[in-house]
Amino acid sequence: MRSVIVVGGGISGLAAAWQLRGQADVTVLESHTKVGGKLRTGTIAGITVDEGAESLMALRPEAVELAAAVGLGDALCDPASSPTTIWTRGGLRPLPAGHVMGVPTDPAALVGSGLLSPAGIDRVAREETLPATPLTEDCSVSRYLAGRFGQEAVDRLIEPLLGGVYAGRAERLSLRAAMPRIAALAEQGGPLLPALRRMKAAGAPRSAAVAVQGVVGGTGRFPQAVAEACGARILTGTAARSLQRLPGDRWRVLATTADGPLTMEADAVVLALPAFAAAELLRPHSPAAEAELSGIPHASTAVITMAFSRSQAHVLPQGNGFLVPPVDGHTLKAASFLSNKWRWLHDAAPATFVVRASIGRIGEDELLDRPDRHLVRTAIAELHRAVGAMGEPLATRVTRWDRGLPQYGVGHRERVTRIREAAAELPGLALCGAAYEGVGVAACVATGRAAARQVLAGVPA
Ligand SMILES: Cc1cc2nc3c(=O)[nH]c(=O)nc-3n(C[C@H](O)[C@H](O)[C@H](O)COP(=O)(O)OP(=O)(O)OC[C@H]3O[C@@H](n4cnc5c(N)ncnc54)[C@H](O)[C@@H]3O)c2cc1C
Repeated sequence: MRSVIVVGGGISGLAAAWQLRGQADVTVLESHTKVGGKLRTGTIAGITVDEGAESLMALRPEAVELAAAVGLGDALCDPASSPTTIWTRGGLRPLPAGHVMGVPTDPAALVGSGLLSPAGIDRVAREETLPATPLTEDCSVSRYLAGRFGQEAVDRLIEPLLGGVYAGRAERLSLRAAMPRIAALAEQGGPLLPALRRMKAAGAPRSAAVAVQGVVGGTGRFPQAVAEACGARILTGTAARSLQRLPGDRWRVLATTADGPLTMEADAVVLALPAFAAAELLRPHSPAAEAELSGIPHASTAVITMAFSRSQAHVLPQGNGFLVPPVDGHTLKAASFLSNKWRWLHDAAPATFVVRASIGRIGEDELLDRPDRHLVRTAIAELHRAVGAMGEPLATRVTRWDRGLPQYGVGHRERVTRIREAAAELPGLALCGAAYEGVGVAACVATGRAAARQVLAGVPA
């Protein structure tokens, strides 16, 4: 049987291992003590919570389908139905339904929302009347969308969503890579508002509340379930340090473990790593791939989970949480009211109210240099300003994700093409992960499975 080493036991690498099951002898090398990467659970006040990703996109099928295939079908659950809410202009203000990543489809629905000034709403409505030649080259989200809808709409409707998903900023993110559905409409030419309304009428997009699903007990259960179902040999605490090409297009991986060095050989290697880690391993083999991968910036974030006593809290917020536009000058990027959002979490700890706040967008690294206790105080203080004084939490937990989210800058898709072309010069090697075609779990699953198919096609059975 052909042999494949998957380097990286996050969801991308595990999806690759799943795709290879029964067709190759697979070993997954994971540097941490547990598989899962950005999908992991932890406990606070005795309650299991997600510390990284907490939901799977349900608008595209790859993640929820894999979850069902590995036995988590019955555990998939919808969040409570609630609009996306923005903390701005002194209140929590729901985004009107039907928006696509914050891009409004109905300017009239913004009236009375308090999200935009009357002039800002007029500017959104004028989009329909502006000439729109087809977009021919990539540009930043803000360059295109501020031109169409006005800067206020970008600042207060779109930036908070980009912060929530990418920890990114509109002036740096690529329209094509970060907002592909909007970019596809822009490439057709013509105003966006009528095109978005047609898209809505055709049934997509569904509202944000049903666009994602969670897993009872935490989305962090997902990678472990894939690891168990895929039948691969999983070596945790094993960090790949270098790759060597062998005759016959085989590969040798040199790794370190707590017990000393480990050397393994295989017919193919899948690198399911963050861009900077893949760059390091590829340096001796493809300077071009190494340079392109190293050029992908990353944002660091911190997740601050807080458990409040329901009986002692002065206020219990409604809804699923809120996103925050950077233009308002707050430190928080987002907050999720986990006990409202996920029924399973409420049922697991009915006397407790769990809030998860996040801090850190691209360019805000100095915020994250502060000690944990400072992040906790900031999160509590801003939460109180947003929802009212809840009182002190019973317990807090800070999880830091250093360089956790790759940033898809202008030209990212072309960069990925160049990386994939350079990697194609290395037979028996495939790349997958959040750095390429989408940061969400569903996109990562898709890249993992595609990488597995690529190595299977290249290595005869
Ligand atoms: C705080 C946060 C919240 C998020 N929330 C959501 C969400 O709600 N929904 C969503 O869809 N997406 C979310 N995302 C994005 C999504 O979780 C990630 O993009 C995705 O999980 C990345 O998976 P991956 O396997 O590509 O990479 P990773 O999860 O980074 O996995 C890579 C693995 O490789 C290992 N590794 C690194 N170097 C080596 C080496 N040399 N040898 C061996 N192993 C190595 C790492 O330890 C890691 O386990 C979130 C991300 C963050 C940071």
